[in-house]
Amino acid sequence: MRGGAATRAARRGEAVVLRNLKEMAEAAEEFCNKTGVRRLLLGGSEANVSQFREMLPKALQDRVIGTFTIGVNAPENEVQARSMELIEKVAQQREVELVEQAIAGWKRGSGAVVGLSDTLAALQEHRVSILLIAAGYEASGYRCQNCRYLMLSERDECPLCGGPVEEVEDLVDTMTHRALESSVEVEIVRGNKQLEEVGSVGALLRY
Ligand SMILES: [Zn+2]
Repeated sequence: MRGGAATRAARRGEAVVLRNLKEMAEAAEEFCNKTGVRRLLLGGSEANVSQFREMLPKALQDRVIGTFTIGVNAPENEVQARSMELIEKVAQQREVELVEQAIAGWKRGSGAVVGLSDTLAALQEHRVSILLIAAGYEASGYRCQNCRYLMLSERDECPLCGGPVEEVEDLVDTMTHRALESSVEVEIVRGNKQLEEVGSVGALLRY
Protein backbone atom coordinates (compact mmCIF):
# COMPACT_ATOMS: atom_id res chain seq x y z
CA MET A 1 0.00 0.00 0.00
CA ARG A 2 2.79 2.42 -0.88
CA GLY A 3 1.47 5.93 -1.01
CA GLY A 4 -1.83 4.81 0.46
CA ALA A 5 -3.82 6.96 2.86
CA ALA A 6 -2.82 4.82 5.85
CA THR A 7 0.89 5.22 5.06
CA ARG A 8 0.54 8.97 4.57
CA ALA A 9 -1.25 9.25 7.90
CA ALA A 10 1.47 7.19 9.56
CA ARG A 11 4.16 9.43 8.05
CA ARG A 12 2.32 12.52 9.23
CA GLY A 13 2.06 10.96 12.68
CA GLU A 14 5.76 10.26 12.69
CA ALA A 15 6.55 13.79 11.61
CA VAL A 16 4.47 15.12 14.50
CA VAL A 17 6.29 12.87 16.95
CA LEU A 18 9.65 14.01 15.63
CA ARG A 19 8.63 17.65 15.81
CA ASN A 20 7.45 17.17 19.41
CA LEU A 21 10.68 15.46 20.36
CA LYS A 22 12.69 18.22 18.73
CA GLU A 23 10.76 20.87 20.63
CA MET A 24 11.30 18.94 23.85
CA ALA A 25 15.00 18.65 23.11
CA GLU A 26 15.21 22.41 22.60
CA ALA A 27 13.28 23.06 25.79
CA ALA A 28 15.57 20.66 27.67
CA GLU A 29 18.64 22.45 26.31
CA GLU A 30 17.30 25.84 27.34
CA PHE A 31 16.38 24.52 30.80
CA CYS A 32 19.80 22.94 31.33
CA ASN A 33 21.64 26.04 30.19
CA LYS A 34 19.55 28.23 32.46
CA THR A 35 19.75 26.02 35.54
CA GLY A 36 23.18 24.45 35.08
CA VAL A 37 21.76 20.93 35.48
CA ARG A 38 24.65 18.49 35.22
CA ARG A 39 22.92 15.12 35.15
CA LEU A 40 19.93 13.99 33.14
CA LEU A 41 17.67 10.97 33.26
CA LEU A 42 15.46 10.13 30.32
CA GLY A 43 12.19 8.24 30.74
CA GLY A 44 9.62 7.23 28.15
CA SER A 45 8.94 4.50 25.64
CA GLU A 46 12.12 2.78 24.51
CA ALA A 47 11.83 4.17 20.98
CA ASN A 48 11.11 7.73 22.12
CA VAL A 49 13.94 7.76 24.61
CA SER A 50 16.52 6.72 22.05
CA GLN A 51 15.17 9.15 19.43
CA PHE A 52 15.05 11.96 21.95
CA ARG A 53 18.55 11.25 23.11
CA GLU A 54 19.85 11.55 19.55
CA MET A 55 18.20 14.93 19.19
CA LEU A 56 19.91 16.40 22.21
CA PRO A 57 23.07 18.39 21.56
CA LYS A 58 26.26 16.43 22.32
CA ALA A 59 26.93 18.35 25.54
CA LEU A 60 23.55 17.30 26.91
CA GLN A 61 23.88 13.72 25.69
CA ASP A 62 27.00 13.46 27.81
CA ARG A 63 24.98 14.45 30.87
CA VAL A 64 22.52 11.58 30.53
CA ILE A 65 23.33 9.21 33.37
CA GLY A 66 20.55 6.73 32.73
CA THR A 67 17.26 5.96 30.99
CA PHE A 68 14.13 4.12 31.98
CA THR A 69 10.97 2.91 30.30
CA ILE A 70 7.76 4.46 31.58
CA GLY A 71 4.27 5.09 30.22
CA VAL A 72 3.46 8.48 28.71
CA ASN A 73 0.66 9.03 31.21
CA ALA A 74 2.56 7.89 34.29
CA PRO A 75 1.85 10.16 37.27
CA GLU A 76 4.58 12.49 38.46
CA ASN A 77 5.24 10.51 41.66
CA GLU A 78 5.90 7.39 39.63
CA VAL A 79 8.35 9.27 37.42
CA GLN A 80 9.99 10.58 40.57
CA ALA A 81 10.20 7.13 42.17
CA ARG A 82 11.71 5.57 39.06
CA SER A 83 14.18 8.43 38.79
CA MET A 84 15.24 8.09 42.43
CA GLU A 85 15.75 4.36 41.97
CA LEU A 86 18.01 5.02 39.01
CA ILE A 87 19.88 7.85 40.73
CA GLU A 88 20.53 5.56 43.68
CA LYS A 89 21.84 2.82 41.40
CA VAL A 90 24.08 5.22 39.48
CA ALA A 91 25.39 6.72 42.74
CA GLN A 92 26.22 3.31 44.16
CA GLN A 93 27.96 2.29 40.96
CA ARG A 94 30.01 5.48 41.10
CA GLU A 95 30.98 4.81 44.73
CA VAL A 96 32.25 1.37 43.77
CA GLU A 97 34.24 2.83 40.88
CA LEU A 98 35.77 5.57 43.03
CA VAL A 99 36.84 3.09 45.72
CA GLU A 100 38.39 0.81 43.09
CA GLN A 101 40.18 3.80 41.58
CA ALA A 102 41.47 4.86 45.01
CA ILE A 103 42.74 1.42 45.91
CA ALA A 104 44.39 0.96 42.51
CA GLY A 105 46.10 4.36 42.85
CA TRP A 106 47.25 3.60 46.36
CA LYS A 107 48.72 0.24 45.27
CA ARG A 108 50.44 1.97 42.34
CA GLY A 109 51.71 4.63 44.71
CA SER A 110 50.23 7.58 42.83
CA GLY A 111 46.98 9.45 42.55
CA ALA A 112 45.37 8.16 45.72
CA VAL A 113 45.80 7.47 49.42
CA VAL A 114 43.88 5.29 51.86
CA GLY A 115 43.73 5.11 55.63
CA LEU A 116 43.18 7.92 58.09
CA SER A 117 46.74 9.12 58.52
CA ASP A 118 47.65 9.53 54.83
CA THR A 119 44.22 10.85 53.91
CA LEU A 120 44.36 13.47 56.64
CA ALA A 121 47.83 14.52 55.50
CA ALA A 122 46.74 14.79 51.86
CA LEU A 123 43.67 16.78 52.85
CA GLN A 124 45.73 19.30 54.79
CA GLU A 125 48.18 19.59 51.92
CA HIS A 126 45.22 20.50 49.67
CA ARG A 127 45.95 17.56 47.39
CA VAL A 128 42.56 15.85 47.65
CA SER A 129 40.11 16.00 44.79
CA ILE A 130 37.58 13.46 46.10
CA LEU A 131 37.36 12.36 49.73
CA LEU A 132 35.89 8.89 50.28
CA ILE A 133 34.47 8.02 53.70
CA ALA A 134 32.70 4.82 54.69
CA ALA A 135 29.25 5.66 56.08
CA GLY A 136 29.28 5.57 59.86
CA TYR A 137 33.06 5.70 60.17
CA GLU A 138 34.19 7.66 63.21
CA ALA A 139 37.59 8.54 64.65
CA SER A 140 38.96 11.01 67.13
CA GLY A 141 42.05 13.18 66.90
CA TYR A 142 43.56 16.52 67.86
CA ARG A 143 43.40 20.05 66.55
CA CYS A 144 45.49 23.16 66.97
CA GLN A 145 43.34 25.83 68.55
CA ASN A 146 45.32 28.48 66.75
CA CYS A 147 45.73 27.36 63.11
CA ARG A 148 43.24 24.45 63.12
CA TYR A 149 45.87 21.93 62.00
CA LEU A 150 44.54 18.40 62.56
CA MET A 151 46.60 15.50 63.91
CA LEU A 152 46.06 11.94 65.03
CA SER A 153 48.29 11.87 68.09
CA GLU A 154 48.38 14.24 71.01
CA ARG A 155 51.21 16.77 71.16
CA ASP A 156 52.20 19.44 73.61
CA GLU A 157 51.97 22.04 70.93
CA CYS A 158 51.08 22.39 67.25
CA PRO A 159 54.01 21.33 65.05
CA LEU A 160 53.17 24.13 62.63
CA CYS A 161 52.56 27.18 64.78
CA GLY A 162 53.26 26.11 68.35
CA GLY A 163 49.66 26.80 69.33
CA PRO A 164 47.77 24.85 72.01
CA VAL A 165 46.32 21.48 71.01
CA GLU A 166 42.82 20.23 71.89
CA GLU A 167 41.08 16.91 71.39
CA VAL A 168 38.53 16.49 68.58
CA GLU A 169 36.08 13.67 69.12
CA ASP A 170 34.60 13.76 65.66
CA LEU A 171 37.69 13.97 63.52
CA VAL A 172 35.99 12.41 60.49
CA ASP A 173 33.21 14.99 60.66
CA THR A 174 35.77 17.73 60.98
CA MET A 175 37.62 16.40 57.94
CA THR A 176 34.38 16.32 55.97
CA HIS A 177 33.66 19.95 56.81
CA ARG A 178 37.22 20.93 56.02
CA ALA A 179 36.93 19.22 52.64
CA LEU A 180 33.64 20.88 51.79
CA GLU A 181 35.01 24.27 52.87
CA SER A 182 37.69 24.00 50.22
CA SER A 183 35.32 22.66 47.57
CA VAL A 184 36.64 19.11 47.76
CA GLU A 185 34.02 16.57 46.72
CA VAL A 186 33.00 14.24 49.55
CA GLU A 187 31.55 10.80 48.84
CA ILE A 188 29.95 8.91 51.72
CA VAL A 189 30.37 5.31 50.65
CA ARG A 190 27.81 2.75 51.86
CA GLY A 191 28.44 -0.92 52.47
CA ASN A 192 31.76 -1.15 50.65
CA LYS A 193 33.97 -3.89 52.13
CA GLN A 194 36.97 -2.87 50.04
CA LEU A 195 37.05 0.60 51.55
CA GLU A 196 36.48 -0.75 55.05
CA GLU A 197 39.43 -3.10 54.65
CA VAL A 198 41.83 -0.27 53.90
CA GLY A 199 40.72 1.87 56.83
CA SER A 200 37.28 3.19 55.87
CA VAL A 201 38.69 6.38 54.43
CA GLY A 202 40.67 7.36 51.38
CA ALA A 203 41.05 10.02 48.73
CA LEU A 204 41.69 10.55 45.07
CA LEU A 205 44.38 13.16 44.69
CA ARG A 206 44.83 16.13 42.39
CA TYR A 207 48.52 15.33 42.12
ZN1 LIG B 1 48.82 25.42 64.74
